[in-house]
Amino acid sequence: MAVAQGSCPSCGASIEFGVGSSIAKVCEYCRATVVRSDRGLENLGKVADIANTPSLIAVGDQGTLAGRPFEVLGRVQLDHGKGPWDEYYVTFDYGQAWGWLAYAQGKWYVTSQSPGLAIPPYTSLYVEMDVPLGAAGVFRIAEIKTGTIVSAEGELPGAYPPGFVRHYADCYAVNNGFATLDYHDNRGSYEVFVGWVFDEPQMAVTQLGPRSAQKIKSAMLKCPQCGGDIPKLAGDRAERIGCPYCGAVSDVALQQVVAQQERAMQLPAIPIGGRGTLDGVEYICIAYMRRSSDFEGERYTWEEFLLWSQTVGYRWLVKDPETGWSWVTAVNLAELDLTGMPNQVGWGGRGFSRRNQNVARVDYVLGEVYWKCELGEETQVTDFVDGGDVLSREAGGGEANWSYSAPMPWAVIANAFGLPVDGAGAQGVAAAGGTSGSGGCASTTVIIIIVVLILLICALGACGSCIGDSDGSSGGGYRSGSGVYSGGK
Ligand SMILES: [Zn+2]
Ligand SMILES: [Zn+2]
Repeated sequence: MAVAQGSCPSCGASIEFGVGSSIAKVCEYCRATVVRSDRGLENLGKVADIANTPSLIAVGDQGTLAGRPFEVLGRVQLDHGKGPWDEYYVTFDYGQAWGWLAYAQGKWYVTSQSPGLAIPPYTSLYVEMDVPLGAAGVFRIAEIKTGTIVSAEGELPGAYPPGFVRHYADCYAVNNGFATLDYHDNRGSYEVFVGWVFDEPQMAVTQLGPRSAQKIKSAMLKCPQCGGDIPKLAGDRAERIGCPYCGAVSDVALQQVVAQQERAMQLPAIPIGGRGTLDGVEYICIAYMRRSSDFEGERYTWEEFLLWSQTVGYRWLVKDPETGWSWVTAVNLAELDLTGMPNQVGWGGRGFSRRNQNVARVDYVLGEVYWKCELGEETQVTDFVDGGDVLSREAGGGEANWSYSAPMPWAVIANAFGLPVDGAGAQGVAAAGGTSGSGGCASTTVIIIIVVLILLICALGACGSCIGDSDGSSGGGYRSGSGVYSGGK
């Protein structure tokens, strides 16, 4: 059965390699990374214990992804300074092929090695750069990062000594294409991995590998600050949690508090744990955030609600004091026509014009989120509009994420979640949101008068620039609609 075997150079335990693509294995007794070569087995050094990351699969599991059988042979844990994430080494078709499998943002990312492709040097890469990858097509870079290998288990397809710093870029193509440009330690060698992104329901797992006791028994996450039990609303997917009892923000894998904030003083308009059905899909509200931007010396604050569904993954509802409620979905940046940038973006046969650009900051988070959320975390947000719909680009930290938001009346949301139509969700929203209670007609009249006045002034002054000025000075709101973050990847 084993394609190679021998004794661990460190402790003498038996080491077996199950498939030909496995180059190294972490000794399950002494945790040495053992590499096989012409000279026999070599010890690359001991790895740290595996961190208890949120994970849906384990080494030893089998299953199918979009109908294709796979087996999990190993895992590496990487970290770029905010806590570890997992990448799994898998074989497909009963050992006929191998690849990498990762979970992030409610999706599975699977790639396999594509030899013979030339790629640009790591230092020449930029976010949203288009990279042709032979017959697989053109891929667009979403993320350029480094990650340190902090731990590993099982078999591995390469010799990664502990502390190895991997330089990489993640890219997307149309039709759910995904690729990783892996520059290893950036000393000239590289590999290209090409594959796809799959929705969660396309994965079927048979749990055969060992799970930590903590994971099996607990339907709760424990707040490391106050010890409070926080129900896992989205299974083992949360990376960070904002405690509803004490306000502490903690990292799930590290079991450490990463930020302090005040306790929740009032309940969010959509309660965390609330369930609602929109477009036939049942969502659960799993997190609440407040974000803000500086506008002429004042903080402009809006609220975001993270929804999760097993079938479609993550969505956002955003409550903006000026523009009201909107429904936000992630956009595959490979689908965008960026030839008109920085002022125009094409998507889905529509043109979006740049409205404003600002820096958005995370001020408060409650509940569970799927990325390494930090208070004070800032991204540069650019909004492009077509009518009332917004395409938002959020950039920072070597990545860019795009999202699309469309207005959604509070009454629709209230009905879906069984909340009062005149409740908290209807408060503090301008008439433009369509849901303000009293005085709606009067406000509308005022707005019409103002619009007419502006038009008159413009016509009189033959002023070409007083409407549609950029950077948030017009156009109803400077919020980012976005809230779409990359997960740990
Ligand atoms: Zn050993
Ligand atoms: Zn707590």
